[in-house]
Order: sequence, then structure tokens, then C-alpha cells
Amino acid sequence: MASLGTIRSNRLRGCPLLSDKELLRKGRGSFDYRVDNSVGLAVIKWADTKCVTLASSYISHSPVFEVSPFSKERKKKVNVQCPQIVKQYNIHMGGVDLSDMLVSLYKTPFKSKRWYLAMFSQMIAIAVNSAWLLYRRDLASQGKKYNKLKDFRINIAKSLIQSRNVHRKRTSAAANLLPQNKIKVPVAPRPTEDVRFDIVGHFAVFTEKGRCRLCTNGQTTILCQKCNLRLCIVSGANQRNCFTSYHSK
Ligand SMILES: [Zn+2]
Ligand SMILES: [Zn+2]
Repeated sequence: MASLGTIRSNRLRGCPLLSDKELLRKGRGSFDYRVDNSVGLAVIKWADTKCVTLASSYISHSPVFEVSPFSKERKKKVNVQCPQIVKQYNIHMGGVDLSDMLVSLYKTPFKSKRWYLAMFSQMIAIAVNSAWLLYRRDLASQGKKYNKLKDFRINIAKSLIQSRNVHRKRTSAAANLLPQNKIKVPVAPRPTEDVRFDIVGHFAVFTEKGRCRLCTNGQTTILCQKCNLRLCIVSGANQRNCFTSYHSK
């Protein structure tokens, strides 16, 4: 796994780097590093106004850039050497803070004596948030509207609940026809977009005659088992297939 972060000097397990004092004496921008290619790890200590130690599994000091931060002592911009690892760290370091912030927004109430379950819950939360960030980026880049994180999470929950229903129905298809025939709710809840277009388990079954959900003027006895709504299929002169149309983008 590619990783990069700061490391405390007492966690270096004796990795021989120059001391903070020695490095600061050499001047701002100087650095010392050790690379272990057998385990794929680079450790770099870099002197800014203070010393900072970074470790990475995919990046080292090279190439070295030149940055020009403002020097308080000299009251002007100075040129300072900046190893690649420091540059990358500055680009990405906001990521962890952002991730923590998003997780805390809608934290799943989850307490357990088994400590590792909290890690599991955290990983799911991070995966969901990352998915939302990608989804938002894609839609925003096309100038489209996107769901808020809260609605995005609700949609995932609804999709997962509905996908489990399909498994149950498959095991005893005949028994499930009975309760479905009893459904006389005038407006059935619509499936989420994820479920509607997932092309999984949308079986046509017969039900009581009723209005087609898509064209709304046709009467039909065909029901999508998963979406739980009527969709007509009509042959002849005015032929149409609302069942297929409804499930395709
Ligand atoms: Zn129709
Ligand atoms: Zn369906």
C-alpha cells in the first residue's frame, strides 16, 4: 500500500539520521535520509524552521525542489531545498483531516467491546465518503446537480435493503406471489436509481391489473418483482415495452 506520513523520532527504531541540532546547523532546507529497498521504506528528516521526519513506502527525497518561503529572521523570501517527499506530503496532508471530518458528520452509532469492530465500521465510513467524493467530482465536472452526503448515504442504505429482498424472493418465488397480490397501496415507493438500473433480479411476475407506472395510461398485470411496480408490455399496432424502458438509462 502506498503510504506517506510524518513519524515521531522515538518510533524510528534506531534508524541512524542526523540529529535535529546537526541538521538545523546545516541550515534550513537541509535533509538526511535512509532508504531500505528490501522492505520498501524511505525515512527522511528535513529541516524547516524545525525538523520534521517523514516516512513513505513509495516516495523518497528525489527530486529535490526549490521553494521560497518567507523568512521571519531575514524579513524576505529565501530559497530552500524541498525534497519530493515533503512536497507530496503538503499536497495530500489535508486528506486525512477531510476524511475525519466527513466520518464525524454522520457517524454510525456503533459501540462494541470488540475493539476491532470499530476499525471495520471506520473503514466502511471511509469507503462511503470516498465514493461520495468521486460521485460529487464526476457530477460537478459535468455541471450536474448531485446529492448531499446525507441523501447519498440514505440511498446506499435503501439499495442494500432492497437487494436483500431479492435474495429472499428467489428462494421461494411461489410463496412470494401471494403477499404481493395483496398489495393495494395506491402509490408504491419508487426504487432508488441504483436499484432501478442495476440489471439484477428484475423479474416480471403477474399481479392484479393496474396502471403502468411509466406510461400511466396502460393497464397491465405485469409487475417488476424487485422494484415492486407495474410496467406494461404491449404488442400490436401501438406496441411498447415499458418494462425495458423503465430499467434502461
Ligand atoms: Zn406502460
Ligand atoms: Zn425493476
